[in-house]
Amino acid sequence: MRIPTAVLPAAALLLGAADLPGPGEPALTPQTARSGGPIDPEQAKLSFDAADLRFEVFPEAERIAGVATLSFTARAPLDRLLIDLDRNLPVSAVAIDGVALPARAWSNPEGKLTITLPHRVAAGGRVSARITYAGTPHVAVKAPWDDGFVWAKTPDGHPWVATTAEGNGCDLFWPCLDFPTGRPGVATLHITVPAGLKAPSNGKLLGVDTLADGRTTWNWRVKHPTTYGIALNVGPYEQLSGSYKSRFGNTIPLFYWYLPGEDTQARALFAEFAPTLDFFESEIGPYPFGDEKLGVVETPHKGMEHQTINAYGNGYAKAPEGFDWLFQHELAHEWFGNQLSARDWDDFWLHEGYATYMQPFYGLWREGDARYATMLDDQRNKITNLRPMVSGASRTEEDVYRIDRGGPGQDIYYKGAWMLHTLRWLIGDRAFRDVTRLAVYGRSDPKPGNFTPRFVTSADYQAIVTRVTGKDYGWFFDVYLRQAALPDLLSERRDGALNLHWAAPGGRPFPMPLAVRVAGRTVRLAMANGTGRIAVAAGAHVVIDPDARVLRRSAAVEAYQAWRDAQRKAQ
Ligand SMILES: [Zn+2]
Repeated sequence: MRIPTAVLPAAALLLGAADLPGPGEPALTPQTARSGGPIDPEQAKLSFDAADLRFEVFPEAERIAGVATLSFTARAPLDRLLIDLDRNLPVSAVAIDGVALPARAWSNPEGKLTITLPHRVAAGGRVSARITYAGTPHVAVKAPWDDGFVWAKTPDGHPWVATTAEGNGCDLFWPCLDFPTGRPGVATLHITVPAGLKAPSNGKLLGVDTLADGRTTWNWRVKHPTTYGIALNVGPYEQLSGSYKSRFGNTIPLFYWYLPGEDTQARALFAEFAPTLDFFESEIGPYPFGDEKLGVVETPHKGMEHQTINAYGNGYAKAPEGFDWLFQHELAHEWFGNQLSARDWDDFWLHEGYATYMQPFYGLWREGDARYATMLDDQRNKITNLRPMVSGASRTEEDVYRIDRGGPGQDIYYKGAWMLHTLRWLIGDRAFRDVTRLAVYGRSDPKPGNFTPRFVTSADYQAIVTRVTGKDYGWFFDVYLRQAALPDLLSERRDGALNLHWAAPGGRPFPMPLAVRVAGRTVRLAMANGTGRIAVAAGAHVVIDPDARVLRRSAAVEAYQAWRDAQRKAQ
């Protein structure tokens, strides 16, 4: 989620109390603020087997306390552990394999907790670190566009707490390996909250323990969670639940946690779960986490694809397409983001391009071509073409997400979606489906239980397209992914013919076929070598690409965007 220019949610932030942190406080070090990018060679030695994460959340004090037990297998000999953790959460104790270390054995000046091991761990050996910490976690300025805790209140004054961590990373509130491939094999969560509050979270509920004073501890287990997918949600939630009989034979538990007093709206949103799931399972493949749950929780921020506990804060907005785009978008990330994960944030478009394309694709599924075209057209006007979507080098999340950091920004959403729309035309529906399925599951016959989450790069994706089609579409990805500017179609009508010529950035080859309608009859031009020619009688009306199947430069859209931006500035 986190579409850069989206309208901000009306979050009921708790501000002003002198002893409580304000938005953006306490400040983050550059080390904690960054997520992903080149991996520290010492961290690359760690295979992250399991995380046992114990949290207590204190909404009134806006503090947390945690005990994290992290289990690793060494890929190479280890003398120390480097673990990402915000220094605003001071560590009070560390134990290695159950044995407490003296305080001099660890330090965390900048947000990279360095633990000197009592003895070397050989390659293939295992080590576990129990880290006890507590403090005031970073408060989001405006989640989910900026990360951290959201300490809100419900309309009737109860604590309502949420977290987001996609941009700054998991180290905002738990000790972790803060890069995409740092996801643990399994995470077990034990979340203790004040009496009367609930803590829906990732994966499967193992049970709820009630303590003598009425506090409750919510125990969850999630397999292969994304690092930023672990989320805390605390509130006086009501719960809707049901089960979904999948076309793949399994039964998937469905849950929605929402604020009291919203039963009618909550039931309407919950009623979207099953048909939306059927769309994804039909068009993409099995819901990846069916043995855990499909979970959604209402949050005081707009939304985020927290694995099996999607954040929903769209306020039950209505739209002409007849479904809640935000719920649908976050659910799409269970396939594109949580099952298929970008190996590096440089390949972020794999998450957002696909998850954004899924809204018009669902419109097509539900209502047909007109809805699809309408929704895509809205996305087309948001493409900026300022930077290439992919740089080819390892990047942090914010280096991709933020235009002011040199990233492509929102193009990973809308240009990514339009690139996929164009690819589907280029290679055909069947090949597009096969490519998507191979990219998501790593196999063409996914069934519940025969796949696990996987990391994919842009190069991997391109190789899958080659494998499925038997053709090299390097020219397609070189232009759409690796160039900022769009290909421009030049046309000239002369001597009874229409001559077409692709002008791709840098003069690159771009043999993109095109449909052309001449006097009401549509033909497909191969555009071999980037040029095409078709006989056109004098006076015949011509429409190029009448169904808008190819993403290309549009002078009209550019003029519209410039005018729109000027209007906004003048306001
Ligand atoms: Zn998204």
